[in-house]
Amino acid sequence: MDLHLIPGASPTADERDAVDALLGPPPTAWEGREQRVDNEGHVGHGGREARQQRHLLLPALHSVQSRAGYISPGALNYICQRLTVPPADAYGVATFYSMLSVKPRPKTVVHVCDDLVCRISGARALCDTLTRRMGPAGEPACDGRATWITSPCLGMCERAPAVMFQRAGVGVADETIAPADADIVMETIQGGARPSRAPVRDTTGPRLLSRVGRVDPASLDDYRAHGGYVALRRALALGPEGVIREVLDSKLMGRGGAAFPTGRKWEAVAKAAVRPHYLVCNADESEPGTFKDRVLMEEDPFAVIESMTIAGFATGSEQGYIYIRGEYPHALARITGAAEQARRRGLLGDRVMGEEIRFDIEIRRGAGAYICGEETALFNSIEGFRGDPRNKPPFPVQSGLFGKPTAINNVETLVNVMGIVIEGGPAYAAIGTPQSTGTKLFCLSGRVTRPGVYEVPFGATLRELIDLAGGVPAGRAIKTVLLGGAAGSFVTPDQLDTPLTFEGTRAIGASLGSGVVMVLDDSVDLEDLVLRIAAFFRDESCGQCVPCRVGTQRQEELVVRLAAGRPLGSGSDERKLLDEIGQAMRDASICGLGQTAGIAVQSAIGKLGLFKGRGSA
Ligand code: SF4
Repeated sequence: MDLHLIPGASPTADERDAVDALLGPPPTAWEGREQRVDNEGHVGHGGREARQQRHLLLPALHSVQSRAGYISPGALNYICQRLTVPPADAYGVATFYSMLSVKPRPKTVVHVCDDLVCRISGARALCDTLTRRMGPAGEPACDGRATWITSPCLGMCERAPAVMFQRAGVGVADETIAPADADIVMETIQGGARPSRAPVRDTTGPRLLSRVGRVDPASLDDYRAHGGYVALRRALALGPEGVIREVLDSKLMGRGGAAFPTGRKWEAVAKAAVRPHYLVCNADESEPGTFKDRVLMEEDPFAVIESMTIAGFATGSEQGYIYIRGEYPHALARITGAAEQARRRGLLGDRVMGEEIRFDIEIRRGAGAYICGEETALFNSIEGFRGDPRNKPPFPVQSGLFGKPTAINNVETLVNVMGIVIEGGPAYAAIGTPQSTGTKLFCLSGRVTRPGVYEVPFGATLRELIDLAGGVPAGRAIKTVLLGGAAGSFVTPDQLDTPLTFEGTRAIGASLGSGVVMVLDDSVDLEDLVLRIAAFFRDESCGQCVPCRVGTQRQEELVVRLAAGRPLGSGSDERKLLDEIGQAMRDASICGLGQTAGIAVQSAIGKLGLFKGRGSA
């Protein structure tokens, strides 16, 4: 393949070293071939081996970003030469992700979450203070060593407001701190004493959370002492078909938002004639207000590894991937440590538990793109392409990662399987309601006394869940609850007795989504939140299809007009237009982002009567 490299751009020794640390030193002649460079700088380069490494593009970009602080043209050239990827193509990938930069920037970038929960918990005041002390967002500060920017949800909503320090250099690591204030930010930039990580709190539940806060997440032995690897042993005894039988009997539905029956998904992959099969754990938990998978990965990481191993065994997959969102550095470290220990102790690798079973896990880090939580976008991201969703069909069970049959489940779904295997599917199905079996993790945030992750059997009501979190602080009243995240909808106080089940929420025109329960009282500026939701979808649309790319833009413009009291025509004209935009996005968008981008805004205006008197009558 002829690569048209960026003229005159060479990597620094540091950039070259960062890439080689990932890919290994280059062979003297590229992958066994002579490197040919013509007079115009075109490099004749190739080899099937190099092209097969395209899936290492995002890790290579990460490697340079975290070493040099940005991806220079020279570094991009070098990565492209090593992987045989056209630079224009790789540039498109590098610029897709918000945590990667192709322009020079300071070695420390402070990402300040100004998304929904942080926004109502002091983030805007924090941004104002940082503007005074560090200058405008995006500008170099602290003698050029740091800068700050705003960020979408960092998934630390129970301790809002949150900040993430993205660092570049040797021997440094990214870090998220919450709750944060301006003094903490400044001290951390100066390298001063940092607050120790707050212990996990208000995380209670009988099954999925039973070990959280009790087990040492860094110790495989402690995990085993708390019942770890009993489920895998039982799964091996049941055999793949037996495991799938139990999962089918359990009626487990996916917890990532789509609520697809997990057993049917696994069965389809297991029966697929095409090989190899893949198992993917979707840990790109990016829905604003969601942090349950983060808690599982940080506090019970071996459970994630064990449940992936069971899923790999059942579906006939020898290779698993876990894709962890880039904003979760602590979860990434915990999962990496757990996988390494499991591999050393024969629980991953060529002979799992000493049996003729091969399964291993590769860990991939996202780089800041909400859309990569969509399953096919996530496949593209792992494969080294922009995280654009694919058209479906074909579905992942037929053609998923690398075009092969793939079972993809989110973290919470997978961890459920351990209990199912141990107790049996029918016992699991007896928990909850006939249509919504088992327990569910909910992320309680906003105006509740004890924000955190709570596990309850399906069927508990919204009111009971809020009471579990201590209710709203004394003297306040619930105005609304955002159920399901930015892609969910607002529910009203008269709907608090709704049972939290798939069918119960559907009956009131809502959905559980990813388990977000964001409680908002009368002190919250709801119009500001709706403006933020509209801006969020406009920002996060991948832009691939017109209904979503244009619809999210028009939706935001409309909300801004209403907020400013400058409707186009009458209020009912605007309302009609909003409905039409929502319908076009819902009916004609390729993926769930566009299909759900209008729901929260429409429910805020329709059910809560926001912007009334300013054109939305
Ligand atoms: Fe991209 Fe939006 Fe289309 Fe999804 S719906 S593919 S996010 S443009």
